[in-house]
Amino acid sequence: MLRTHTCGELRLTDAGKTVTLTGWVQRSRDLGGMTFVDLRDRYGITQLAFNMETNADLCLQARKLGREFVVLATGKVIERSSKNMKIPTGEIEVQVDKLQVLNSSKVPPFTIEDETDGGEELRMRYRYLDLRRNPLRKNLELRHRMAIETRNYLDGEGFLEIETPYLIKSTPEGARDFVVPSRVHNGKFYALPQSPQTFKQILMVAGYDRYYQIVRCFRDEDLRADRQPEFTQIDCEMAFITQEDILNTFEGLVRHLFLKVKGFETGMVPRMTFENAMKFYGSDKPDIRFAMKFFELNDVVKGKGFGVFDEAELVVGICAEGCAEYSRKQLDELTEFVKKPQIGAKGLIYLQCKNDGTFKSSVDKFYTSEDLQKIADCFNAKPNDLILILAGPAHKTRKALNELRLEMGSRLGLRDPNVFKPLWVIDFPLLEWDEETRRFYAMHHPFTSPKPEDIPLLDSDPGKVRANAYDLVINGVEIGGGSIRIHSKELQKKMFELLGFSEEEAQNQFGFLMNAFEYGAPPHGGIAFGFDRFVAMFSGVDSIREVIAFPKNNAAQDMMIDSPDLISDAQLKELGIEISSQQSAVSS
Ligand code: ASP
Repeated sequence: MLRTHTCGELRLTDAGKTVTLTGWVQRSRDLGGMTFVDLRDRYGITQLAFNMETNADLCLQARKLGREFVVLATGKVIERSSKNMKIPTGEIEVQVDKLQVLNSSKVPPFTIEDETDGGEELRMRYRYLDLRRNPLRKNLELRHRMAIETRNYLDGEGFLEIETPYLIKSTPEGARDFVVPSRVHNGKFYALPQSPQTFKQILMVAGYDRYYQIVRCFRDEDLRADRQPEFTQIDCEMAFITQEDILNTFEGLVRHLFLKVKGFETGMVPRMTFENAMKFYGSDKPDIRFAMKFFELNDVVKGKGFGVFDEAELVVGICAEGCAEYSRKQLDELTEFVKKPQIGAKGLIYLQCKNDGTFKSSVDKFYTSEDLQKIADCFNAKPNDLILILAGPAHKTRKALNELRLEMGSRLGLRDPNVFKPLWVIDFPLLEWDEETRRFYAMHHPFTSPKPEDIPLLDSDPGKVRANAYDLVINGVEIGGGSIRIHSKELQKKMFELLGFSEEEAQNQFGFLMNAFEYGAPPHGGIAFGFDRFVAMFSGVDSIREVIAFPKNNAAQDMMIDSPDLISDAQLKELGIEISSQQSAVSS
């Protein structure tokens, strides 16, 4: 290499060595007779020193270096007179006697610092500069480490990494497909996989009983903060297993990653049924770093003349410890919070458990102090606790209380980003009813197996059927999900029927899978982890964009390469495509 050492490598023990470093100019400072240049590469920063007295020419040359110039410098490692103990190379500097500018640089549009002055759009457009910043570099290193450890673990468990195609046809996993027009078959389209779901199941039929792949998936969904049109999964499938085997194997993966990458034991991952998750946390991905469980109050509060409670389908509350002294203003804030349109509660009822054993509540008028005591008892509330209650339609109210619970958790500092609490949520419903289209949708995907004991309900009460489906949740974030699959052609057919596929549609879209099932499909099941989210969680960043080298922005655009973009008339013609709304196609 052009260099002898990296910019992160030299220590006091190297003093006296002649070394050559290469890198980018982070900054330079002229201090009278001396010029100092911080030289940066991916490994760190080393200070280069130039002395006007001993080598004026070189020093003048150094003074001309601009930010992000690429240089090669040779010189002697010496002990620094004013040390910087904040960086590992801070005890030394290189006294340069040969300097070569390998390339100049325009002034970068934002500072290449940990805290940059560049807005997100700008950083995306110049992603190569953004990627020079420490936070992104650390995230990509972490991502690499997690990928390697994933492979190590799964390899150790006998999993084969097998690639599946990207040009496929539609997989019905709830999202819109990205499609790719075919030139050879004009008018026909490939779809990019929403996941390798059907392929991994076919691999099970083919006998590859432990498969995985760290794989790109494509979903054309409306973007939210934590979504990308293309994202990466750790996709896995196993044959000849029960749900228990899957949970154990992948709990192993999660624990392995925590141990090898974060350096700590997470212990056994607890399990919670979907039913209990909804009942006690109002969410299918509860954050169990803190308790603050829901308690349903219908039996305690109804029939006392308070119309809002009397008429509500559900009255449900939480107890925030030590918050009884919340001011009027704080309580108003919480009320405003639950009334936000995205949360949608009509109002908030509170009950303050005073230190002297009395209560103060927004519904004092309707309830005696014995009544209020009964409410407090439901939560085992102590003096100085604050009970917060919502009322309304059951599902909506639970969801709103979930938001309030998380808000209170944050306010009380109970959601420490350095604490990790994984949880399996199990026994998801098989189907979800949609009022608008008045039909059932698969909650996970159409290949998910019902619990055998619930199969009779498929005819009588499909909404009640539970699935052998599970999610891995960490700190309230869904990190992975999967299911035991249907492996009988008959049951799969029935499922398609329930989901409203005509026989012809099912045959057209999934004939290949149903056919494969006629040639000895073993019992099988699997899981996929959202790799980007997993890395973001380990890194402690909110957005998955921070852990993807080249992400898309909120409008699904890549600002650096300017995509999506028009294509030439010639390309369109070749594909047999006419664009009706296109104003000006680029010419060929
Ligand atoms: N293919 C599923 C998904 O992407 C995961 C699985 O069931 O294995 O959510």
